[in-house]
Amino acid sequence: MDNKLIRIAIIGGGLAGASAANALFHLPHVDVHVFESAPEFSERGAAVGLSVNAQRALNAFIPPDKGVLQKAGAVAMNSSRIILGSGKDAGTVIFDLKTGVCVHRASLLRELLRPLPKEILHPNKKLVAINPKASGVELVFKDGALYDFDAVIGADGIFSFVRQHVFRDAAPGEDYGPSPAGFWDCRNLVPLDKAKSTLGKELFEDDRRYSWIGDGAFIMHDILEDRTMVQCIVSAIDKQQSFTESRKSILTRQDLNETLNTWLGGPIASGMIDLTLNQPDTYKYSQWEHKTTPTYFEDRVCLMGDAAHASTPWMGAGAGVAVEDAMVLGALFANISSPKEITAAFKAYDMVRRPRCQKVVDTSRETGLLFCGEFGLDVAELRAEISTRWSFILDLDMEAHRQEAMKYFTQYKNNQ
Ligand SMILES: Cc1cc2nc3c(=O)[nH]c(=O)nc-3n(C[C@H](O)[C@H](O)[C@H](O)COP(=O)(O)OP(=O)(O)OC[C@H]3O[C@@H](n4cnc5c(N)ncnc54)[C@H](O)[C@@H]3O)c2cc1C
Repeated sequence: MDNKLIRIAIIGGGLAGASAANALFHLPHVDVHVFESAPEFSERGAAVGLSVNAQRALNAFIPPDKGVLQKAGAVAMNSSRIILGSGKDAGTVIFDLKTGVCVHRASLLRELLRPLPKEILHPNKKLVAINPKASGVELVFKDGALYDFDAVIGADGIFSFVRQHVFRDAAPGEDYGPSPAGFWDCRNLVPLDKAKSTLGKELFEDDRRYSWIGDGAFIMHDILEDRTMVQCIVSAIDKQQSFTESRKSILTRQDLNETLNTWLGGPIASGMIDLTLNQPDTYKYSQWEHKTTPTYFEDRVCLMGDAAHASTPWMGAGAGVAVEDAMVLGALFANISSPKEITAAFKAYDMVRRPRCQKVVDTSRETGLLFCGEFGLDVAELRAEISTRWSFILDLDMEAHRQEAMKYFTQYKNNQ
């Protein structure tokens, strides 16, 4: 580690941590290091959708001509077509929502890590303690390693250790940890030819995401990996609340038939049940979220990505807002001239990011209920609800957002 002016540790090398590292590593006065607990930097899970706001934020710290998304095999989605999947109007198109690209998670992480110097990436480093110091933090890792940094950014996911540190003094009864949101989902990746032959080739004539809304459940499929694979998702209201801490449970054909009982005979359910079960083991996963987060920072410790605002996936926005977090942190750190200004930067970050990200968490949970038919399946009502639902996410003016963060930073810095 060299002696640059400001030393920053990022904990967690997922999409959030890798994005933040890209936003910071090229700043001449910042020495950034990423610590990942896993033996190698890796992403589990199938696809992630990156909408236009996320792409604009990414472009702010990785020039588009680097082709990160293209190299990751991202497929531009024509739209997300939202259709009724059950009931008397099954098959009726409700709305064509403008979306962005669909990309395989592992491929995106690979391309985000590629520009980063190897010497700043530290796998096999699980953070186990944060000791605040007079100026900065001492970080303790499971292998006994100790490092001093001027600040730490927690990008360590929904069960974040850094988050626990930030809220270590929460009053009894105040729980800021993750909790179930009331839904489960099951995801599977299948080859395009298999999806076409099972669901019907007309559903794959365009590069489109299909989202099927219905009674108690939701089905989605989209194309990725340079049009070779299809992500298939079944999701539903978690009526039994039967998940343990593992958040995972076996899903059988009988479960699926019961969940999609009123969908059978419609345009999508039977084929999707076959595709869902066409894997060695089929599991459903409980969706968890952070319901309340009173701050994204404490002194020299800050939270981003799922560590700050884990959300259900119904708005498809979690990774996108993590990229926005990275953009704002990058803009603030570009303007810091001394470690003493870091807390003012984190405070400015908290001011602009927390209201937006909390809105994503809350809107997403409500969207889950809407998509699982909890507010009814009336086509006109659904159309009115859905047509403007994503506007606050997609229409963010990134430059104005950055300037707002800078305005707060200047104000807090001058008042220190
Ligand atoms: C089913 C599903 C579908 C989704 N679909 C979309 C979508 O379409 N679009 C979208 O924008 N978002 C989507 N999201 C949200 C998105 O996946 C997440 O918001 C994003 O991946 C979070 O990235 P992260 O880096 O913050 O967290 P993580 O991916 O959880 O990464 C955290 C990293 O920190 C490491 N770590 C943990 N603890 C420690 C420690 N103590 N020390 C060191 N390292 C540690 C972990 O090993 C991990 O690598 C979806 C989420 C889910 C669950």
